Amino acid sequence: MNRTETLRHRDQKAIWHPFTQMADWEKDAPLIIERGEGNYLIDTEGRRYFDGVSSLWVNLFGHRRPEIDEAIRAQLDHVAHSTFLGLTHIPAVELAEKLLALSPPGLSRVFYSDNGSTAMEIAIKMAFQYWQQKTDGERKKEFLTQSEAYHGDTVGAVSAGGIDLFHNIFRPLLFTTRRIPTPHCYRCPYGLARQSCTLACADRMEEQVRSLQETLAAVIVEPLVQGAAGMLMMPEGYLARVRAITKECGVLLICDEVATGFGRTGTLFACNREEVSPDIMAVAKGLTGGYLPLAATLTTEEIYRAFLGRYEEFKTFFHGHSYTANPLGCAAALATLSIFEKEDVLGRVSTLSHLMAEELARLYSYSQIGDIRQRGLMVGIEIVASRATKESFPPEKKIGQRVICKVREKGIILRPLGDVIALIPPLSSTEEEIKNLVRSTSWAIEVVLNEDE
Ligand code: PLP
Repeated sequence: MNRTETLRHRDQKAIWHPFTQMADWEKDAPLIIERGEGNYLIDTEGRRYFDGVSSLWVNLFGHRRPEIDEAIRAQLDHVAHSTFLGLTHIPAVELAEKLLALSPPGLSRVFYSDNGSTAMEIAIKMAFQYWQQKTDGERKKEFLTQSEAYHGDTVGAVSAGGIDLFHNIFRPLLFTTRRIPTPHCYRCPYGLARQSCTLACADRMEEQVRSLQETLAAVIVEPLVQGAAGMLMMPEGYLARVRAITKECGVLLICDEVATGFGRTGTLFACNREEVSPDIMAVAKGLTGGYLPLAATLTTEEIYRAFLGRYEEFKTFFHGHSYTANPLGCAAALATLSIFEKEDVLGRVSTLSHLMAEELARLYSYSQIGDIRQRGLMVGIEIVASRATKESFPPEKKIGQRVICKVREKGIILRPLGDVIALIPPLSSTEEEIKNLVRSTSWAIEVVLNEDE
């Protein structure tokens, strides 16, 4: 056995991979990544692959970006980690100030954690405890969540989630939430067409918030894009309506910007597009440029103040992690945010996303492309058995999985969401790379669909 084969064998003997059917994995020849270089990952055989999903939507400016590498090395010369319970440190202070300066107005406090799920877990617990500590808050214990939502894999985040495939088995463990049908135009829950619907979904959502206002602690949304659900896009104006009605009804708004934050959708945060300031906002993924696990839950002074009191009143927020605010992660995040200050990142995203839209439009020539959804550099290409009926392929056909295996032959790494092919290139991609990404994906889709005829 050569080195690659030995490593594969050792992996298959010792490791259990996330979101992976291990029976298949044990039969496959998994790719072993050894190095990263700019927008590419390089395997143990020296093959280069374009990182077409930004290493699960985290990477912003490529691998081994000198400024971020340097910031982490410099922090290592000071301290790799110290607890954040009862102590603070310099990069956390600097990062909190910088994050708040860039975030939607009204957010004034940063609560750190270490991944998107925990950032959302904190958001939920914070909203819940906030109402418990308000004199009139005893009733407000419910959450209104979107169907098809994904907020992570911890039990609280799963409770707020709505992807049956991932979440149903755990239902007996979860707290129940109220649900709003996701406002997803391709499969509109009300059977309407976007051109003529006048946002009936927003009217219904408003009715629901109004009727539940006495008991709702918060509405939780993935602003503009429901990523894991298959890149489902909110119709324009919906998010602003959620903000307006929650404000009117005295209900908190939690925006999960874990996937959409840091330029991915074309604005720094998805909330910016509709000038929405949530009461609580969770960020993670791109925060460190895709280098280290760090997350933050941002909130308002109003919420923060509800947790102040005498020691023995125990209004304290009893939540924290061993690696909360890891200094190396904070240093990486500071370097990442500096890149946004130095470079016209959003201008670049705009150019690339226009180019990508032009390239993607050609895919509609395949009759089994049902829908192409795009917001900035977040794209979902939905493959269906029939465009007319929008019927999906049976899961055993593994269409999405086969497409991403095929596209590897063209030196591109992707990860599907069922039969939705997600394209989430790094913000540092070149125009050539974007063209190649779309054209190679299109080729792989064509090959797989032809095999299937
Ligand atoms: N929230 C959203 C919207 C996400 O897309 C994800 C992950 O994909 C999470 C939360 C969970 O983040 P993590 O995987 O860092 O726990």
